[in-house]
Amino acid sequence: MNRMRYIYNAETCKYEPVIVSPKDAAKKLFQFLAITFTLGVGGLIYFNSTFAPVDETIQTQINQGLKAEWQVLYKQLDRASDQLHALEHNDDQNYRVILDLEPLDQSQREAGVGGREKASESIMYPLVRQAYEQAEKLKNRLEIEAQSLQQLQEELNKKEKMWASRPAIQPVSNKDLTRLHTLFGLRMHPLLGYVRPHNGLDFTAPQGAPIYATGDGSVSIAQYSESLGNMVFVDHGFGLQTRYGHMTKSIVHAGERVKRGQVIGYVGNTGTSVGPHLHYEVLYQGTYVNPINFFQRDLNNREYEKLIEIGSQSVTSLD
Ligand SMILES: [Zn+2]
Repeated sequence: MNRMRYIYNAETCKYEPVIVSPKDAAKKLFQFLAITFTLGVGGLIYFNSTFAPVDETIQTQINQGLKAEWQVLYKQLDRASDQLHALEHNDDQNYRVILDLEPLDQSQREAGVGGREKASESIMYPLVRQAYEQAEKLKNRLEIEAQSLQQLQEELNKKEKMWASRPAIQPVSNKDLTRLHTLFGLRMHPLLGYVRPHNGLDFTAPQGAPIYATGDGSVSIAQYSESLGNMVFVDHGFGLQTRYGHMTKSIVHAGERVKRGQVIGYVGNTGTSVGPHLHYEVLYQGTYVNPINFFQRDLNNREYEKLIEIGSQSVTSLD
C-alpha cells in the first residue's frame, strides 16, 4: 500500500500531496546507487590496502620463519667451514712439515668446485642457491682433506718403518762402555803395522758385554772371518746396513729378523783385534759412513757428552 507524502504550502496555508514524477524517482535511485557503489569500492580498496588476507598473512609468517632458520643453517655451514680450515692449516703447517711433505696448494684444495657450482644455477631462490654452493664447496674440501689425511697416514706408516730401521742407538750400552775409539778413516793398523782405512768405531767393553742391533732389520750374514772374527751384518732396508765384529759369539743367524735393542751377540776379541771390543760399521748405499752421526738422535745431552768425553780419551783404534 502506497503511502501518500504531504508538504506544507505557505501560500495556500494547506498541506498538499507531494507529486513525484517517474523521472525524479529514477534520478534519486541513480544517485542512491552511485553513492552506494562509491562507498563500497572505496571501502574495499581501503580494506585491501590496510589488512592482508588471512592466507597471505600465514604465508608471510612462514616465510619469515624459514628465513630465520635458513640463517641458522648458513651459520652452521660457516662454522663447519672454519673448523675444516683449521684442520687444513694443521695438515699443511704441522703434519706435512713433520713428514717432509709439501703443503697442498689452494688450487689443489679447490679442484672441481667450479663444475659443481653450475648445478646451482637452476636453483631459483638466492638464499637456497648460496647455501647450496657453500655446502658443495665444503663437501669438495672435505673430500680433498680426506685424501690428504690418507696420504699422511701412508707416509707415516712408511716413515715409522724407516725410523725404526735407522741404526739410531749405540750397539754397546754406556754402562758397559769403558772407551770409544772415534777414529774413522785412515789410521795405522795396530797389528798389520801400516796405514789403511778404519771404516767404523771401536767400542771397548768387558768381554761378554751384550751387543745390540741398532735398528730393525734382517741378518744378512752371521759367520766367522779372519779379520772381523765372529761377525754379524744386518740389512735395515732403505739403503742402510750395519756390521758388528770381533764378538765372542753371535746369537742370531742369517735371514733372522731383528728389532732395535735386541741382543745379537757379545763383546769379544776374535779376528784381528788387540783387546775385547766391538768394531761397528754403518753403510749407506754401500758406502761407509761415520756411525757417530746416527747416535745423536737417540741420546740425551748427558749421554752424548759422555760419548764425546770417552771418545776424546783415545786416538788409536783397536781394529
Ligand atoms: Zn775397529
